[in-house]
Amino acid sequence: MTSPPSNPDDEALRCLVEALTESGQAVSIFDADDNLRYANKTYQGMFLGDYDGPFTFAAILRHAHRNGLGVRIDDNDVEAFIARTLPRRRSVPRKSFETDLVDGRWFWIDHTILPNGWVLSVGADITALKNNEKSLRQAHEAALRASRTDQLTGLPNRRHILGLLDEALAAIEDTGSGLCIAVIDLDHFKAINDAHGHEAGDAVLEHFARSCRVRVRAQDRLGRTGGEEFLLLLPELRLDHAVRMIERIRDGFPPAVLEHSGLELSCTFSAGVAEALPDDDRSSILRRADRALYAAKEEGRNRTKIGFEGTR
Ligand code: GH3
Ligand code: MG
Ligand code: MG
Repeated sequence: MTSPPSNPDDEALRCLVEALTESGQAVSIFDADDNLRYANKTYQGMFLGDYDGPFTFAAILRHAHRNGLGVRIDDNDVEAFIARTLPRRRSVPRKSFETDLVDGRWFWIDHTILPNGWVLSVGADITALKNNEKSLRQAHEAALRASRTDQLTGLPNRRHILGLLDEALAAIEDTGSGLCIAVIDLDHFKAINDAHGHEAGDAVLEHFARSCRVRVRAQDRLGRTGGEEFLLLLPELRLDHAVRMIERIRDGFPPAVLEHSGLELSCTFSAGVAEALPDDDRSSILRRADRALYAAKEEGRNRTKIGFEGTR
């Protein structure tokens, strides 16, 4: 024989049907009136159970839905699902799509319309692939979150908060609403480390992050830009309100209480505030805020200064 026959003889046909019946693929064939004429075991398990008819496509879907079998229907409305699906069933000679079942499995379905209007459907179980895809996606999201987050405080890290500053500056160009920023630096922080150790310093940093976060609005963003330095973005706020907000944070910054020793560590901070001007970019607005922070340190710390254009 030079090539396999494409017209199977009776024995080959019998074997083919037997093999299909036992196959892990879900195989079914519906006639032109949408009556189920053949379903292998896998398909029967998916849709039929011990169902004894009628075997039209719509009746099978209703039976499956009533008995917790078959495909998952998002809004649980089987009649709407049938109304959506029926007109599309023979719309193209061949189509493939994925579907998930009530029992959590996923199938890749291949539909073929035969010349006489019959529909052959072959479904392959892709649950393992989907689960793999899901865990890869979750791992990717976790890695992305970690790459943006400061480990100690859980705040956006330097790269992320500066990216958010870029976005906030772009947004005010579009909307014309205001934006203020504050660079915040803890005062004499090195002395806390020196006197009580690095872990105590870490506890103070975490404590600052927490107490600042609960005192700002939902749309404000706080990030850690470096050791004991933070950047606060205050959208839609004018300077006087921004300064008041910083003072509220200052008033609500109680001493950190160390977990093991119960020791109370007081700490203050200095802040430089700047309001976004037209044409500001990341570095111009940060420069004004940094200069104001420097002035706050120079004047004795534990205070807020405003960085105006030309501030030295
Ligand atoms: P100033 O009021 O002028 O800002 O004084 P300062 O002591 O706060 O500033 P300085 O820049 O001299 O010291 C900052 C210290 O912050 C030095 C560094 O060891 C410490 N530091 C930086 N990152 C961390 C951290 O993640 N954990 C702890 N515990 N300390 C840190
Ligand atoms: Mg510093
Ligand atoms: Mg400092």
